[in-house]
Formats: sequence, C-alpha cells, structure tokens
Amino acid sequence: MHVVMIGGSDAGISAALRAREIDLAADVTVVLEDTYPNFSICGIPYYVSGEVTHWRNLAHRTTADLEAAGMRLRPGTTARRIDVPRRKLLVTTPGGGEEVLGYDKLVIGTGAVPVRPPIAGLAGPDALGPADGVHLLHSMGDTFAVMRTLEQAAPASAVIVGAGYIGLEMADALTIRGVHVTQIEQLPEVLPTVDPQFGALVHAELARHGVEVLTGTTVRAISAAPPGTPGRLRVRAAAADGIAVTRTADMVLVVVGVRPETALAADAGAQLGVKGAIAVDPMMRTGLPGVFAAGDCVITRHRLLGQTYLPLGTTAHKQGRVAGENALGGTREFAGSLGTQVVKIFSQAAARTGLRDHEATAAGFDPVTTETQADDHKAYYPGSHRITLRVTGDRTTGRLLGMQLFGHKDAGIAKRVDIAAAAIFHGMTADAVSDLDLSYTPPLGSPWDAVQMAAQAWVRQTRPD
Ligand SMILES: Cc1cc2nc3c(=O)[nH]c(=O)nc-3n(C[C@H](O)[C@H](O)[C@H](O)COP(=O)(O)OP(=O)(O)OC[C@H]3O[C@@H](n4cnc5c(N)ncnc54)[C@H](O)[C@@H]3O)c2cc1C
Repeated sequence: MHVVMIGGSDAGISAALRAREIDLAADVTVVLEDTYPNFSICGIPYYVSGEVTHWRNLAHRTTADLEAAGMRLRPGTTARRIDVPRRKLLVTTPGGGEEVLGYDKLVIGTGAVPVRPPIAGLAGPDALGPADGVHLLHSMGDTFAVMRTLEQAAPASAVIVGAGYIGLEMADALTIRGVHVTQIEQLPEVLPTVDPQFGALVHAELARHGVEVLTGTTVRAISAAPPGTPGRLRVRAAAADGIAVTRTADMVLVVVGVRPETALAADAGAQLGVKGAIAVDPMMRTGLPGVFAAGDCVITRHRLLGQTYLPLGTTAHKQGRVAGENALGGTREFAGSLGTQVVKIFSQAAARTGLRDHEATAAGFDPVTTETQADDHKAYYPGSHRITLRVTGDRTTGRLLGMQLFGHKDAGIAKRVDIAAAAIFHGMTADAVSDLDLSYTPPLGSPWDAVQMAAQAWVRQTRPD
C-alpha cells in the first residue's frame, strides 16, 4: 500500500504519522512544495518577536524524527496534476524535472494561502512586495522575508492591515521588537471573532502597549512615501465616516485571512463547497476514488452550525489524522469542530468556543448571553486575576452553546475555554456544568471554577421568575 500525502504541514504530516502508526509496513510519501516539513507556522509571531530564538525551533518534529517514523519526505516538490483513474500524481522535482508517482491512496493537504485584499499597490506589475517592506504572512518563506526587512531595514514603524488573531499576535511581536505599530481594521472593533465587548478589552490592551488602533477604517492604497517623509511607505485609508486617513511607516504587514488552496483538487474533479474549500465527507473522502483531503484546504463540519470553513491548526491535525487512518482502510469520522480558539495579546488572552448570540440565533436556537466576572483562583492567595466570561445558552433547553473568556494570560483562559468546549461537545446544559468534577487548590482555582460560576450565573439570569 503506497499512500502519498500532498503537503508537509499540519494536515499532511498528521495523516502520514497516523498511517505509519496504524501499519508499520505502509509505504508513505509526503510531497511538499516548501522545504519546511512539520513546521509550526502558528509559532511564527513568537520567532518574529525573538521569544523563540531560532526558526528551526518552530519544527514540531525534525526531518530526522519524521524519517524515523518511517515516512519518505520529498521537500521542494510540487504536485501538479492528479490522474485519478490511473492513481498517478505528476510532480515537479527540486531540479525542475517532472516525475510521476503512483499511489494507492492520496491525501491532499495543500492548506491555505493568504488573502490579498483589493488594495492599490498590492497587485499588478508595479505591486509592492517584501523588498519594499510590504509583506503577507503565512509560510516560513514569508517569515524569512519579514525577518530580512526587520534586520536589514530596521523599521521604526509598521502598519498592520487586519486585526484578526494573526494581526494581533504580530502587533504584540513587533512591539516587543521596538517597532511602533499602527493597526488598521475595517470592522468596528478588533478581533471580530469575539463579541465587541471583548474586542474593546483587546483594543484597550493594544493601546496600553502603545499600539495605535484604527477601527472602522478601510485601507485603500499602499505606495512609496514621498521623499522627506518619515517612513518609506504611505498607507491611505478611509474611516467609516469617509474621512481620509493617511499613515506612513517603514513596513506594512497585510494579514486579512486566508483562502483554501484547492486548484490541484479542483482540476482533478473534486467538488468544492463553503468558501471554495474542498468538499469532504466525515471520513475526509473527497468523492474522488482513493482521494482524501484535510486541513485548511477543506470544509469543516461545525458541530452546531454544519458546514463551515474554519482554517485552524488544531482542526488540521485532527482531520489529517482521520484521513491518514482512513487511507489505510479505517472508518474513523472527524467529530466536528466548535471553532475553539485562544489568542494572547501582550499580557491578556481572549478565547471563544461554540456560538455567539447572533450565530446561535442564525442556527435556530433561542439564545441568551450573560456576562460574569470570577477570579482565576482564590483571591486571598497572591496573584489572582479577574476573568470576564460571556456564556451563551439556549433559553428553551438550557443547553450550553458557547463561551468567551478574557483575562490575564496566566489566568488559565485556554484551559477554561477547553472545559466549555468539552461541555458543549457533549451537549451539556449550562446547569450540568456545575456537576463537573473540576480540580481545586487555592493558588490555582476555586471550589467552583470560574467556568462553573459563569454557568451558574447564566442559569440564575434565565430562570423564569
Ligand atoms: C502566523 C499564524 C499563526 C497561526 N496561529 C494559529 C493558532 O494559534 N492556532 C491554530 O489553531 N491555528 C493557527 N494558525 C493556522 C494554522 O497554522 C493552519 O490552520 C494550519 O497550519 C493548516 O495546516 P495545513 O496542513 O492544512 O496547511 P498549511 O499549513 O497551509 O500547509 C500546506 C502545505 O501544503 C504544501 N503545498 C501546497 N500546495 C502544494 C502542492 N501543489 N504540491 C506540494 N505541496 C503543496 C505547502 O508547501 C505546505 O507544506 C496560524 C497560522 C498562521 C499563519
């Protein structure tokens, strides 16, 4: 059995590892266009900030580890065409030649590419690029280009276009490096994946660290700055009221999301779904015989919303594992996502899982959302932090639908959102969250965990009078 994975990141490598775990005799080849197999691109901001001291440290596993697991790696090799009926894959080798690889099963893990928004100066023959200090950020190659700008041009200022989680992490990273950051977001508040109340808290944390935040502001053009201006680039934008906004900076980072990389699969006849991502069934089958797909290139089943596009590393790992198992004849199903995510912004963290109020309404629930504060551990023990929690539940059934948390990065925000994720995954009511047997010691928690206190507050506030 020869299994070929296209893509050497979270999805492709997870699939390869699982295939080898299941059958040590499986012949597994991973074809990857870049030369950074199994690198944690989620860690890029922390390499840029200097907290991770060498790019090689971003590898989840080294090439030697991967080879020891029994897979054959083909770095610098681009998959060009899939011949589905003959089970052949045409690739371009690092030397530029062509080669045909036979396969019994194929897993497509081609991931995503950054969106290039319609901003003048970003497209066309005169488009500005890394050599001018204008960057997109997704791959290790993009990261090295950013590092070259930082090291060679020593920018004093940067504009970040976009205030999603990657934009925020990069604002944090560049500020740590001593670069003054202006963050421009077209939506009314930063981090639009959480409620605006939490976006405002994130906004305040950015401002507290000297980041200039312009919300409701759409960037229209990036160009070289006129001579004599401080900063080599000029960014022109329009505020919500139409007023023109101009900033100059030495560097511009455009991080406004990703789109699935699906050309190869689509050319082979795979069906596309939400946001143009590859349609897969719960077993990660594409519908093409012998062809599976996983990660940022596919649609993701959300447990409460149905089909979505949710490009996340945690999801890519799980889907890749399912695809790798099923490529070897397994029948495992991807259990679905809840869109659980967490982001650190300077000394604070914001997290969410499940649905927010408007999403729950759109999905046909009768949601109520309440906001509570609770300590991360007993306040009498030094160093406690207040956590703000927003709980969304269904008024009719009492079912817990979503939770958002904001608080100090050392206040267990990530693990607490995971408690909520586990509860929602299993369809628990908000009331039943109080029954969970959670750990307690005063320096680390409370007899009722913050998540339980928030769920209890939701139950109190929704109880009929
Ligand atoms: C800065 C940053 C921070 C992030 N932080 C987080 C986080 O904190 N938490 C989280 O859950 N997610 C995070 N993510 C998202 C996460 O990294 C992605 O969801 C995940 O890496 C997707 O993995 P993937 O394998 O599907 O695709 P990708 O990582 O996009 O990899 C695609 C692979 O396919 C290869 N490839 C593409 N086309 C071809 C071809 N034709 N032939 C051969 N090879 C090909 C590429 O070379 C690459 O190896 C972050 C992403 C970025 C950029």
